[in-house]
Amino acid sequence: MGPPGAGKGVRGRIIGKMFDIPVITAGDMLRDATSKGTEDGLIAEGYMNRGDLVPDSIVIAIVEERLSKPDVEKGFVLDGFPRSMNQALALERILKKLNAKLDCVLTVVARPETIVARLSLRRICSKCGAIYHLKDIVPKVKGICDECGGSLIQREDDNEEIIRRRFEVYKKQTFPIIERYSTAGNLKEISGELEIDEIPSILEKLLSPRG
Ligand code: AMP
Repeated sequence: MGPPGAGKGVRGRIIGKMFDIPVITAGDMLRDATSKGTEDGLIAEGYMNRGDLVPDSIVIAIVEERLSKPDVEKGFVLDGFPRSMNQALALERILKKLNAKLDCVLTVVARPETIVARLSLRRICSKCGAIYHLKDIVPKVKGICDECGGSLIQREDDNEEIIRRRFEVYKKQTFPIIERYSTAGNLKEISGELEIDEIPSILEKLLSPRG
């Protein structure tokens, strides 16, 4: 959990590699549906371009379908889901069905100045969604993804006006559900302002049973 640009995606991918489990990123799945032009993707596109949340029914269906695949049996990371109270309740229902439990809810905390500066320099791989930054996470070959060779692009919603809207939406619709997890006792916090090389060891400590 965390506001846009706090560093959820980067941390999620590191956790996925650490435990060799899939990272299920709601935003990536929605961008995929949009670029494929599916019915849901076309509906989602308008909301995403404005910086609003895509309707719960669409996002929940996409995540539920993904969680029905066998590769999640060993565990999984959810990035960018849940983002509303309805989604949090749906996740509880889905987990019950899978006989799985949330080991940890990780919140990523960063100052608004860091976020705006970071998002304007963020680039993502158009093929695999890997995340880069023109200053802090530089690809080996300019404009090309290290992981899959895809081309790097700037997201359309990474512009100042839409970032502001995404922030508002986070405060109103997503932040309140963090409270729910803090009372359940499985909430942990990580800084969104760490150097990229520092992140794995901090995550390892945080996610160890005694972390
Ligand atoms: P992200 O890649 O996580 O920054 O998400 C990009 C955009 O996708 C958001 O601004 C929303 O429009 C949409 N989105 C991603 N995850 C969700 C979600 N769980 N619920 C609703 N909309 C979402």
